[in-house]
Amino acid sequence: MNGPYEIIDPRFRDFVLLNVSLRRLSTGHLWTEGPVWFPAHQCLLFSDIPNQKIYRWMCDGSVNVFRENSNFANGNTRDREGRLISCQHGTRSVTRTEHDGTITTLADQFAGKPLNSPNDVVVKSDGSIWFTDPTYGILSDYEGYKSTPEQDHHSVFRVDPDNGDLSQVAIDFAQPNGLAFSRDETLLYVAESGRSHDDTVPSVIRVYDVAADNGLENGRDFARVDPGLPDGFRVDCHDNLWTSAADGVHCFDANGVLLGKILVPETVSNLTFGGPRGNELLITATTSVYAIHVDTASAIA
Ligand code: MG
Repeated sequence: MNGPYEIIDPRFRDFVLLNVSLRRLSTGHLWTEGPVWFPAHQCLLFSDIPNQKIYRWMCDGSVNVFRENSNFANGNTRDREGRLISCQHGTRSVTRTEHDGTITTLADQFAGKPLNSPNDVVVKSDGSIWFTDPTYGILSDYEGYKSTPEQDHHSVFRVDPDNGDLSQVAIDFAQPNGLAFSRDETLLYVAESGRSHDDTVPSVIRVYDVAADNGLENGRDFARVDPGLPDGFRVDCHDNLWTSAADGVHCFDANGVLLGKILVPETVSNLTFGGPRGNELLITATTSVYAIHVDTASAIA
């Protein structure tokens, strides 16, 4: 099969396309992250964390600066009303950019103390906002401002859609990172990327059952990522999970079986589905952003 693939399970052929190539949309960055597609604007936003910018890629191929001072923004997503939700290391907060451009802080402390450095974020269909809070953005001055953590844990948090209250939903991580719901939202996947700084931490994506009261139960390992780390990932409309890895994007089925890889020439940090027809994987990878057409689409309509 032509294309930049490593096919491990023949079912992988059902989700990728013949004779497509990996296209480089943008390069010259330091560390790209947080890709999010806006169908209403036909554009991709992505962060360059150390450069403190959010960039916008348009369908005509142009790239411009969407936000000049992004406060070391990392993960981005959009809510069900089409608003940008961002994790910002510099302010140790999660923010929402309103339709008029004003920025609302959704979370910046828990139990009266500053968060560590929110990393990645996802919005559930009920409007609740779930995010991870590892310490990467306060470990050095490269991706934020070096600080001593004040939280006891590196947690996963949920912002209540009705009253904005923050609740701690998981604490069993060295460094929680990317996160995504299964298609029916009964499962939440969370990356454990603590191996970045501790060789004894397994390089795994964990999965939890989402209880009726929005608690997380029955946490267990879903899949091991090798080589590299699971950072950001997305779930598609077939409940496959597409994750970042050192050699590209790895695709797992709903049982955690590795189906195949899209090989990318730089270490991948994150990805999202998008493009004019929603059938492209948009991949942030170190200094560049890549795109490739696939035969699947996002789990989120
Ligand atoms: Mg991340």
